[in-house]
Amino acid sequence: MGKIEDLKVINGEGYQLSVLDKVVAAARKNSVWPLPFATSCCGIEYMASMGSNYDLARFGMERMSFSPRQADLLIVAGTISKKLAPILKQVYEQMAEPKWVLSVGACASSGGIFDTYSVLQGIDRVIPVDVYVPGCPPRPEQIIDGIIKIHEMVKHEPMRRRYSDEYKSLLNKYDIEGNEK
Ligand code: SF4
Repeated sequence: MGKIEDLKVINGEGYQLSVLDKVVAAARKNSVWPLPFATSCCGIEYMASMGSNYDLARFGMERMSFSPRQADLLIVAGTISKKLAPILKQVYEQMAEPKWVLSVGACASSGGIFDTYSVLQGIDRVIPVDVYVPGCPPRPEQIIDGIIKIHEMVKHEPMRRRYSDEYKSLLNKYDIEGNEK
């Protein structure tokens, strides 16, 4: 999992050439630092994915970051109340670009069984989500599958995407400030 796939290099005497976009994408993909925003049962499943049985460290991801500025993958696992939604959004805004979001389980993705006045009916009401993991709760294998899908996105993302008009209008929809050109 840690190898740098599809990286075309040209070797010569005393030099090595490659495409910068691909080198950066490969480095990002293989060193994702997740910030677990775990509020309930789905968080326990996520913890299991870190244990020796599932060993998320295989993906270069053993370093949890509880500081938003040093994280690039926000993993939201659990029920998010409407009261908590602004905090979640603040944590997302504090993360530096480029950043990705994984929504783990029915509650984070849609409110789950809690169709009530107090529960946010999906975190994509306040922040953009890249990958959704279904289930109540999803098994660690499903969470890892979601993380692998994030890795694929990271691997294929062009370096300029975060400065594109399309990305800016996505952030605008959420009333979030983007990068300056
Ligand atoms: S989706 Fe199910 S397991 Fe996950 S937090 Fe909600 S109730 Fe708990």
